[in-house]
Amino acid sequence: MKSIFPEKGQWLKGILHVHSTESDGWISPQRVMLAYEDKGYDFICLTDHWKVTPKPQDAPGNLVFLPGVEVNGGNTQVGDYHVVGIDVHPDAKFDREKTPQYTIRDLIDMVRSQGGLAVIAHPSWNGVTWFDLKDVAGDLMGLEVYNTGCDMEIARGFSEVQWDDLLSRGFKIWGLAVDDTHRYYKDHAKGWVMVKAASKTPTDIRQALEKGHFYASIGPSFYDLQMEERKIHIKTSPVKRMDLVSNPMRGETVLVHEPNFLTEHVFSIPDKNNVKYIRIRITDEIGHEAWSNPIFV
Ligand SMILES: [Zn+2]
Ligand SMILES: [Zn+2]
Repeated sequence: MKSIFPEKGQWLKGILHVHSTESDGWISPQRVMLAYEDKGYDFICLTDHWKVTPKPQDAPGNLVFLPGVEVNGGNTQVGDYHVVGIDVHPDAKFDREKTPQYTIRDLIDMVRSQGGLAVIAHPSWNGVTWFDLKDVAGDLMGLEVYNTGCDMEIARGFSEVQWDDLLSRGFKIWGLAVDDTHRYYKDHAKGWVMVKAASKTPTDIRQALEKGHFYASIGPSFYDLQMEERKIHIKTSPVKRMDLVSNPMRGETVLVHEPNFLTEHVFSIPDKNNVKYIRIRITDEIGHEAWSNPIFV
């Protein structure tokens, strides 16, 4: 059996989409960092709108800082596109002047040309579908499978369907859970990623993100996912349900009722000819989920 995560390294908790008073967030960059350090996070990517906010001089010492940005524009018939850039150059400049004229290709190129990993933000919130992304999805590192702000404000925080539609069409895109925090009361520290990185440094965290060595969660934890031929062994915190999600018409579910919990399970991977990818979703007793990244089989 071989873990899908690197054997060596450490698990680090991170927030990859969050705002401060440098754009439309309600608290200063320093207080944003303190708020996340206080919740036990290891790293943060501050993603103000159109602006790379520098690491505050009085930043808390234990939180690794990645410079980031959020840009938006274009038109999908029902809304625009938002793209988050993770780990962009600290002195990068983004020009919001032509926002309505930008295409999704422009937004992704803008972020990538400044060194950033491009993530499609909250597709459910602004109605972005796989069809809107079909020409650019190969350049996306990730998609926000969960966004706390979008969930709390208008109940459109979950974007699993959009993710599976892209994965089913062969795009290799990782899934992120984020807060997109603006207000710091209901929208704070509810969606995160757990990264298995070689060390707690910006370089190793970025590398783990690029390689998909992480999972997304709003509650439960994956302890390990191990592959053995056509089987996947799952170890988690106590949950009520585990799902193997795959391309259309494939997949499997196991669930238990009171007073039982699941902490381990083995799924057989469906026949190779019919399956492009699998991913694991777990759900705890209050309905909170965690999502593994897809494994292409
Ligand atoms: Zn946004
Ligand atoms: Zn945002």
